[in-house]
Amino acid sequence: MSAATNKKTVIVTGASSGIGQGIAIGFGQQGANVVVNYHGDDEGANETLDRIKEAGGSGFIHQADVSDEGEVEEMFRKTEAEYGRIDVLINNAGIQQDSDFASMSLEQWDKVIHTNLTGQFLCARAAIRHFEQQVQAGPEDMAKGNIIFMSSVHDIIPWAGHVNYASSKGGILMLMKSLALEVAPKKIRVNAISPGAIATDINEEVWSDEEKRKELIKLIPYKRIGKPEDIAKVALWLGSDDSDYVTGTTIYVDGGMTLYPGFVDNG
Ligand code: NAD
Repeated sequence: MSAATNKKTVIVTGASSGIGQGIAIGFGQQGANVVVNYHGDDEGANETLDRIKEAGGSGFIHQADVSDEGEVEEMFRKTEAEYGRIDVLINNAGIQQDSDFASMSLEQWDKVIHTNLTGQFLCARAAIRHFEQQVQAGPEDMAKGNIIFMSSVHDIIPWAGHVNYASSKGGILMLMKSLALEVAPKKIRVNAISPGAIATDINEEVWSDEEKRKELIKLIPYKRIGKPEDIAKVALWLGSDDSDYVTGTTIYVDGGMTLYPGFVDNG
């Protein structure tokens, strides 16, 4: 166990499944206090909390829609009331609503942008407001707050048929970098993780179908689909004091998907 993440208070949005669940359990295994945010899946959220507790961590479940300003503010108020401070925000909740561009409805565009981009803005803003009011838990020259945005390889790889999703993730890239620059002098760290293909609910229709799975593997030089734990391990490090000098960076955790796989045999 790394003492670096021990007893931190961590809010994980969208923690009832997939990557968010893996990260929440990972922090639980390190003894952190974990706020398990969920939107609709209370069964998944309960499973996450049970596994955090089994692993020796503690926490509570909090239902909030990340795109709702009031609900986000309430989640942060409750966390501070419970634990006295907030150390790490894992800004993870996200959705896809796919459509070719000409058929994409304004509703599909708005829903994805509101959840993936505005939702991450609202949670990050609430976190920054809390971080500014609190002092360092550790040595004075170390961070007093830490935000990790869950982006995607589609913040740099264009994705036909998913313009709303790719736009939201491209937006996160500059949201993360601009915010990191603004708050670094206040000793607040801001980074992003961009996963490649990770087997979760969001893409089940691809990895559960043998033909689609084979096609997907062609895009991954490392030749395997990722697991939530692959992302959790990186989030734990970015969320720990071991990465204290890292800010404004995106870590691509993608088995090489961003390396132009078509050029693997000389193009
Ligand atoms: P997932 O569907 O298992 O998880 C998404 C979570 O977000 C769910 O728990 C869902 O309930 C929650 N959520 C959705 N709307 C919400 C809202 N309004 N308020 C609060 N919570 C809400 O999928 P996942 O793959 O674990 O996705 C997690 C993040 O990782 C997303 O931001 C996604 O874009 C990103 N990502 C995933 C992959 C992948 O291959 N799985 C790749 C790149 C990026």
